[in-house]
Amino acid sequence: MAIKERRIKCATCGERATVRRGARGPLTAYCDVCREERTREQARLRVQEMRARHRATRSVPPDHR
Ligand SMILES: [Zn+2]
Repeated sequence: MAIKERRIKCATCGERATVRRGARGPLTAYCDVCREERTREQARLRVQEMRARHRATRSVPPDHR
């Protein structure tokens, strides 16, 4: 599989960085630090949402409030 190196400018902090991407997949213009932070943030939100849904199904559905 071909992996391309692309030089990008981070969309968040403006830092120049090199990202390695395969031929497929979206090119995210973030440096390693910001990308990691975004990934963590998204994961956190997902967990939060999942927990909320889990709690809702275990106790009272939202429309019964
Ligand atoms: Zn950055």
